[in-house]
Amino acid sequence: TLDLPKTTDDILTEDVHLVQSFADLNALKQDGARTAIVGAEGTMVTDSEGNELIDGIGGLWCVNVGHKRREIIEAINQQLETLDFYSTFYSFTHPTAAALAAKLAELAPGSLNKVHFGNSGSVANDSAVRILHHYYKRLGQPQKRKVLSRHGAYHGSTHLAIAMTTPEYSDGWHKAEGIVHHLRKPHYWREGDGMTEAEFTDALLDDMKSEIESLGAENIACFIGEPIMGAGGVIVPPEGYHARVADLCRDYEIKVISDEVVTAFGRLGHFFASKDVFGFQPDIITTAKGLTSGYQPLSATILSDEIHEVISGPGAMFLHGMTYSGHPAASAAGLANIALMERDQIPQTARTTGKLFETTLKGLGDLDIVGEVRGSHFMIGIEFVKDKVSKEIFDPSLNIGLKVAQKCQEKGLIARPLGHILILSPTLILSPEQIATIGAILRESITEVM
Ligand code: PLP
Repeated sequence: TLDLPKTTDDILTEDVHLVQSFADLNALKQDGARTAIVGAEGTMVTDSEGNELIDGIGGLWCVNVGHKRREIIEAINQQLETLDFYSTFYSFTHPTAAALAAKLAELAPGSLNKVHFGNSGSVANDSAVRILHHYYKRLGQPQKRKVLSRHGAYHGSTHLAIAMTTPEYSDGWHKAEGIVHHLRKPHYWREGDGMTEAEFTDALLDDMKSEIESLGAENIACFIGEPIMGAGGVIVPPEGYHARVADLCRDYEIKVISDEVVTAFGRLGHFFASKDVFGFQPDIITTAKGLTSGYQPLSATILSDEIHEVISGPGAMFLHGMTYSGHPAASAAGLANIALMERDQIPQTARTTGKLFETTLKGLGDLDIVGEVRGSHFMIGIEFVKDKVSKEIFDPSLNIGLKVAQKCQEKGLIARPLGHILILSPTLILSPEQIATIGAILRESITEVM
């Protein structure tokens, strides 16, 4: 057994050596305010003080089937007993990665039948673009390299993925990368003033068309978009937007990457969101998180047969891959996770319970400081405003999202603050009673900070 620190004090003493992600490192250094999570089961987690909390963020939008599911743990253990590690480099393969690739080909829409594995959503997105650069080079169009992304997007934290992420988030990193161009954020409530939703969609498409024409379609490799923007504040695009974007891209021979790192594996009630929820067919789907429900780090870049045909043609050396691409234990976790989802019909159930979650949280819209509650099923954002009519936000120094999240935690719910927005992305196995409890905790917490 491992010799781990047990008390909160012991954990925090050792934690000074850990660099947290997406954190105010100075604030952490000053006051040490941290929550050490020491255990988890089902929909709940336990902190080092012994508090039991509802995991309202599913780990980090990822523990879709809930914590401590024996089926997944046993599959990982069994895999490690049989084959701890071998790579999928060169001509090597192993049954677990092969079986998971076949399963994903079965679940993914259209002719998305070829899977390259990675170990994070960021890597899946980098891989997608890198593969497309390789693809166009082989087609004799090496200049077709630019990427259309959007304001509000979050695509990860590797060099290219952060460049594709919204410039505000990445402090303008995309300029260093040089190939990424950001289109307008498709957020009707904030940006569609004076327009109907249909007019707003037309305006977004017109802008996109002008951007394509000014950059030159012959220079643009792809458009990348999350079906619902997650970390950018849970932005659901206007009706019909995705299908029209995909059509426009097809007209200009630009590939469509659907970043389904969050929106896949039941979070919106289906295994994948592009075709089944939003009615468009991408050329590449990238996914991670719910693929293993977070039990192992794994991502997938799922390619169309057509793209694969080009990159696997004569003389096409594919110089891309990570040591842990298709790691046996991660692949086993993915297979067991999907089997569990299929056996228990988790995506199907999420269509009903997720809708209940959505309507319960949307009911908070009557509170004075709640500007918009948005999202779908188990992916919800609550935006706080100082003034409901002007939609003016609170001074960022007030840390309104953090204050509400702290109240929630005191009352037994983990929620994620993102500036003046609060994010909820729980496990998909919440009961109607737990959904009611979450709604009540949120209402009390918001009311107390008003
Ligand atoms: N894409 C989306 C839509 C995400 O939400 C995230 C992470 O939250 C990523 C990509 C990056 O995934 P990872 O953190 O596994 O690199």
